[in-house]
Amino acid sequence: MIPNNKASLLLIYTGGTIGMKEDHANGTLKPFDFKQIIDEVPELAKFAYKIDSLSFDPIIDSSDVEPQTWIKLAQVIEKSYEDYDGFVILHGTDTMAYSASALSFMLEDLGKPVIFTGSQLPIGRPRTDGRENLVSAVEIAAAKDKDGKAMVPEVCIFFDSVLLRGNRTTKISSDNFKAFRSPNLPPLAEAGITIRYNKTLILPVPEETRVKARTKLDTSVSILKIHPGITPQTVSDILLGSNTKAVIIETYGSGNAPAKKWFLDIVRQAREMGKIILNITQCPSGSVNMDLYANGKSLSDCGVVSGHDMTTESALAKLFHILGEYPDQARAMLEEPLRGEFSK
Ligand code: ASP
Repeated sequence: MIPNNKASLLLIYTGGTIGMKEDHANGTLKPFDFKQIIDEVPELAKFAYKIDSLSFDPIIDSSDVEPQTWIKLAQVIEKSYEDYDGFVILHGTDTMAYSASALSFMLEDLGKPVIFTGSQLPIGRPRTDGRENLVSAVEIAAAKDKDGKAMVPEVCIFFDSVLLRGNRTTKISSDNFKAFRSPNLPPLAEAGITIRYNKTLILPVPEETRVKARTKLDTSVSILKIHPGITPQTVSDILLGSNTKAVIIETYGSGNAPAKKWFLDIVRQAREMGKIILNITQCPSGSVNMDLYANGKSLSDCGVVSGHDMTTESALAKLFHILGEYPDQARAMLEEPLRGEFSK
């Protein structure tokens, strides 16, 4: 890695704890003006980078994120792509894994870093994790290899010293500084005294490096979490709902669900209606393998597609994207990793 002192970066602030302060009236956290964040992190000025910033208006708690937020982010990046070497997105942690997954699919032919980060403690607090997260995210967004290409031409999350592929990441803690992990893929980089990149895992810079923002998203997707005691009414409400084109079934272990006749009949009926059914395991780590147990096999016999070791966040974002942009190829595109979102 060579330092890229001339790098120019765009810092996009969407909201989240990193930029919040206490409302003394009722003790809750509320967003504050973005300029104050920059003032709180004088370390940024020590890099020789040119850092421009842009703040969403209004800034939001990430629990309010909608597909419209992703469209806005994708369009900002596409529009300013040629002007910057990398992008850092400050975002609340609650839905950061969804947003990073969505952007990874929406930004086609991405050849530059798009690094999401945030914090568990507001940046003004003495023990904040926000300052270190932001400074490292900025350094990674600026990093180039010896050929002058971006070190990490991917959508990632940097948090608590690790750089994770965005569409492999999930939020695991509401109060620990280690708030994210990517259980089925090692970190793409680790920040110690230096930032160590795991080059064998990082996706290559695409041949076509002019990014395209694919902003058509079809949200007719539902999630069904299997649990003991689930009723035929719940399963049919979700699987047969008229507004649903695809359903993610969160199954047990390696992709198992009840093999009861009523359950498989509803799955078959949904398939006959042309719906896509994607199997994602409830286990935080490991993969779906529907050939392992009879209960899994009966799902694949009904035409359920394996989600391999994808996260639910990534599966949802991928379905929104492919149903929106490539409806005729959706099923085939599910079987292939588009942005390194599952192991094959
Ligand atoms: N509720 C906040 C948000 O996601 C939490 C955070 O930023 O960590 O916007």
